[in-house]
Amino acid sequence: MPISNKPQLQSPPFSINDVKVAFDCPRLFYLKHNFGGDYSFLPQDYIQEIDNAFLDLANQLMNMIWQESRIKVLFAGKFEGLVVGAIANQIQQLFYEFIFFPYLQTLIKKDATLGTALYQVWQVLTKLIFNISEIIVKNRRYCNENVVVRRTLITAEIPVDYTFKMPYSKIQKLTGKVNNLIFDFESRRLYIVHYQTYETVEAFPELMALALYSFLLKEKKKVSVDAVVYWVLPKLGEYHHSWEKLENMVESLVPSKLEKMREWLRWEEFQPDPPPPTEKEYLCDICPQREKCQSFFDRGKVEG
Ligand code: SF4
Repeated sequence: MPISNKPQLQSPPFSINDVKVAFDCPRLFYLKHNFGGDYSFLPQDYIQEIDNAFLDLANQLMNMIWQESRIKVLFAGKFEGLVVGAIANQIQQLFYEFIFFPYLQTLIKKDATLGTALYQVWQVLTKLIFNISEIIVKNRRYCNENVVVRRTLITAEIPVDYTFKMPYSKIQKLTGKVNNLIFDFESRRLYIVHYQTYETVEAFPELMALALYSFLLKEKKKVSVDAVVYWVLPKLGEYHHSWEKLENMVESLVPSKLEKMREWLRWEEFQPDPPPPTEKEYLCDICPQREKCQSFFDRGKVEG
């Protein structure tokens, strides 16, 4: 078995984010680990206000569904009589009136050009409202109206960790925090809901991070954990990743990557064989550490 949950020796833990960055670029991982700083690859048309708005509004939506008594009553009564579309419409109206519209007014007063992107944020949120309403209605078969919302939406942050066994009998601990979970009673599965405003520049490392959150959570909760990703720009998107696919990615790729990460961190300046640059050269054009990388590593690829 490539993976074990029994630690065999002490070693400093990596975060799931460290692994994501290492899949993006070994040099960026090295720089982040040793010097800190920014390590996000933002698209050329990135707008900070829209990024903040989507994440903020999605969190407020989850909290509102979790806490609001006017939403709780929508799921009352006989399971057979609940109509998903009608419930979603009512949640949508409440959310628009009390949260989205005031938010919209404030933002477009500051910058009217944000209107179109905010409209797309609204469309993704309505899709999310429908999907959540649907799963809460399904879960009413298994729990009563007083607890169904709270047993479906898990908004608290959950710390997770796991110790991987790597090649040559070494071990490496990995840590992370998971939030925004949905539980489906029918399939006995958790779903990690991941919001990202922009479609990822380099999708694979992002997917690897999701696979790790899913894997570590499965180890803790002992149920399968799927992942659902919503994004807003450049066009609306929703993607579902099954536990089976995510688990396979972790088992086949992560232990050897952890070994590489440790090897890269052992390198010191002016020694031969530094951590390699990213295999995706286009990432260098939008890399927040490009200048540091050029001055620190002896390589020609990103120079000039
Ligand atoms: S400039 Fe390129 S090689 Fe250097 S850290 Fe950034 S992505 Fe990696």
